[in-house]
Amino acid sequence: MNIILLGQITSGKGTLAQCLEEKYNFGLVSIGALLREEAKKDTPEAKVISDYQLQGKLVPEEITIKILKSHMDRNAGKNLIFDGYPRNLKQAETLDRIAKIDACLVLDVDDSIVRDRFMGRRGCVTCGHITHLKMLNGKTTCPKCGGNLEIRNDMTEEAMLGKMKSFETETKPLIAYYENKNLAYHINAGHNPEKTLEQAENVLKKIGKNGIN
Ligand SMILES: [Zn+2]
Repeated sequence: MNIILLGQITSGKGTLAQCLEEKYNFGLVSIGALLREEAKKDTPEAKVISDYQLQGKLVPEEITIKILKSHMDRNAGKNLIFDGYPRNLKQAETLDRIAKIDACLVLDVDDSIVRDRFMGRRGCVTCGHITHLKMLNGKTTCPKCGGNLEIRNDMTEEAMLGKMKSFETETKPLIAYYENKNLAYHINAGHNPEKTLEQAENVLKKIGKNGIN
């Protein structure tokens, strides 16, 4: 089955995807990783991808979809999770042409929780470890290496507001798109990763096939 994950930043999509990978052998489809892998090969597509990435531009949709399709062909019969794709309606429509989507899990979190989770993030200057004020119990150094912690550029309020805005403008129409197809399942992701996983498992059981019972 093919599952799409959508949700606000800090909703725990990455953690859920990882749990589903480990527990049910789902394959995680990361478009970014597939494109980076392809760019290393000696193909006409690789050249185009490298050029676009060097210029910091989005790789053309027809190339992305070609690479995605060949990845899906190689993994035929395997349960797949999409995190970070589709990002907009156009991509969702394209994806529908090459894959049957079984469910879209929507991880709902209140804005106040997003703010709380996001603004508490700290990154280690030395080892890159990302932690949260709540995990530090008043300590001011990295729990992994003892290095100094900082509020990185991608951890500022401005960065958060940018992400929240793109959730409104790009992700919400996508959620509506899957709601209209009766494929959207809302999950309350405001508690903890275990509760999120439990609800996701209930959805998978409901639509269950391919070994998830
Ligand atoms: Zn560190």
